[in-house]
Amino acid sequence: MIFYVFLAVLFTLTILMCIQESKRRKIGFVPALILCILLTPLFGYFVILSRPIRSARGCKFCGNTNNEAEFCALCGKNQEGELKDDKK
Ligand SMILES: [Zn+2]
Repeated sequence: MIFYVFLAVLFTLTILMCIQESKRRKIGFVPALILCILLTPLFGYFVILSRPIRSARGCKFCGNTNNEAEFCALCGKNQEGELKDDKK
């Protein structure tokens, strides 16, 4: 009995996680849920985390639309055009 309660809680948490992450990242809810069922929720979560964010901030200097960090991975500039090494 306790096993089924555990399974129901795990399944609910997995669905909620898939709903939340599929809104935030470039992966649909159904593919995310299938991944979690096939790979177990733990490994499915890592695969989902590796998908790019939908509203990435991008970079206006080199046109890298997938940039998510403060400093662009391609040209190394932030929003003000400063390089990472310029910080004092
Ligand atoms: Zn850039």
